[in-house]
Amino acid sequence: MRNNLKSSRKPCIICVAITGSVGQKANNPSIPISIQEQIESTQESFEAGASIVHCHVRNNDGSPSSDIEKFFLLFEGIKKFCPGMVIQFSTGGRSGKGEERGKMLSLKPDMASLSVGSTNFPDRVYENSPQLINWLIREFQRNSVIPEIEIFDMSHIFQLKNIFDQKIFENFYIQIVMGVKNSMPANKKVFDFYLNLIKDFFPKIQWCAAGIGKDQFKINEWAALSGGHIRTGLEDNIRLEKDLLAPSNASLVKKAVEICIKNNRYVSSCDETREILCLKKKV
Ligand code: ZN
Repeated sequence: MRNNLKSSRKPCIICVAITGSVGQKANNPSIPISIQEQIESTQESFEAGASIVHCHVRNNDGSPSSDIEKFFLLFEGIKKFCPGMVIQFSTGGRSGKGEERGKMLSLKPDMASLSVGSTNFPDRVYENSPQLINWLIREFQRNSVIPEIEIFDMSHIFQLKNIFDQKIFENFYIQIVMGVKNSMPANKKVFDFYLNLIKDFFPKIQWCAAGIGKDQFKINEWAALSGGHIRTGLEDNIRLEKDLLAPSNASLVKKAVEICIKNNRYVSSCDETREILCLKKKV
């Protein structure tokens, strides 16, 4: 699929966020919860064009977990069935409390998400204290994990600038997140303003964008059109259309592929993604 699309100019990386820590089978039965389901869903998404997978793990009852053993099994399964795919763990705030959130970094995934400030979520404060951020940063460094910095709010770009100026990370990826209820909405003027700041502060750094719920496809479009990369998946959005649940993560990846083609981008292979993001090549 990827090679057939390589007629146009610039590659676009598709990241699939397969599970998250909120959605349940009751919301959409296609959300993969068990490790086996997660591996199968990732493989389908990989075959559809995703070259990065963003991972959370769950307990058997669907509640979020930070169990390192589960992360290990998922990590090994994805490596086996999706050779070369970039594996990104979440250190997000719903999967555990405090330092529990970073314990899985010792498994040394290619990448992991890192929030650099707090914001409001639909039903709680997404709390990232300076102390916890500093501890997580040390764990990223100790394990040589490349961070994907999550931008939920404009202040997070300035926080990242502080980190950048201190030369704490040699390499990182940026993700703009819009459309979380009670946080920054999907507003095009704000999106463009974010991008101007990002290009000003970090001209050599690659970026992607995620839209939540009904904003997913809109943000996919904005990112593809503006030269960024795409995040999709059931973590962020469970619907293919207003009244139609997405039957799989792969169905959302296929939608992202269509958006790439429409915007004169081709879908990045795993090797290209590793090259673009300056990640280690997998043999
Ligand atoms: Zn996540």
